Amino acid sequence: MNIGDISLLLGSEDAPPVLEYNAAGRSPFLLICDHYGRLIPKALRDLGLPERDLARHVAWDVGIAGVAEGLSKRLDAHLIVQRYSRLVIDCNRPPHVASSIPRISEATTISGNEGLSREAAGLRRREIFDPYHRRIDEVIGRRLHDARPTVLIALHSFTPVYAGIARPWHIGTLYHRDTRLPPLLLKLLRAEGDLVVGDNEPYAVSDETDYTIPVHGEARGLINTGIEIRQDLIADQAGEQQWADRLARILGEIEPMLRAARLI
Ligand SMILES: [Zn+2]
Repeated sequence: MNIGDISLLLGSEDAPPVLEYNAAGRSPFLLICDHYGRLIPKALRDLGLPERDLARHVAWDVGIAGVAEGLSKRLDAHLIVQRYSRLVIDCNRPPHVASSIPRISEATTISGNEGLSREAAGLRRREIFDPYHRRIDEVIGRRLHDARPTVLIALHSFTPVYAGIARPWHIGTLYHRDTRLPPLLLKLLRAEGDLVVGDNEPYAVSDETDYTIPVHGEARGLINTGIEIRQDLIADQAGEQQWADRLARILGEIEPMLRAARLI
C-alpha cells in the first residue's frame, strides 16, 4: 500500500496533535511551540526513516520541549504545543509552500513524503496543522475578548551545524513587523555578557517561510517575537532548565517595560 492511499491519518493509537500546559496561566506571555514533538502517525510508518534521523533536528526542535515547559511554569504562562514531527507537516510553514511537507530536509531524503497525493497532503493539514492553528486562534480570540494583555512568543531551537557550517550564536531573536519587543529582548540578551546573540539569525521571519508569527502575532496585532536557542546548549535536562531560568528572568524584566510603555 502506498502510504498516500489512506483516508484517515490519525488512528485510535495516535495522540492528538495539540497539547497545552498551564492553560489558566496568568502571564501576558502566550508561549507557542510549533516543533515541540517528533511523533509520526502510525499509518505513515516512520516516513521510511530510521530512528537516528527521527531523533535529529530534521524531525523536531531538539531540547525546546523542556525549555518551553520550564518557562511556562516559571512565568505562569499558557503554552500551546504541536506534538507531530515537522516532517509530517511543518506547522510553521504556510501549507501551500513546498517545505510544508518536505521531501528533503538538510541532506536527508524523506521517502514517505515523495509522490504524495493532494489528498494525502490535505489529510495532514486537516488532522494536524488545522486543529493546532485553530486552537491558537481560539485562545488568542478569547484573550482579546477578555481584554487580557497578550504577548506571543514562538519558541524554537536550531542545530549547531547546518550543511557543514557552524553557527556561532547561542540564541537569536526572530521577527519581521514587530519593532517593539525584539529590540528590548536583544538588548537584555546582549546585557547578559556571556552570549553570542543573533539578530534575526540564524533565521528571519517572513510570510513565505513562517506561519505562526505572521498569522497569530502580526495579523492579530500582538506584540511578538520568535526565540531560537542552539540545540547543544539544551541537549540535557540541566541545559533546558538553565535556559528556562534565564529566559524567565529576562521576560520577567521585559513585562514591566512593556506595561510602562503601554504596549500591553
Ligand atoms: Zn522550530
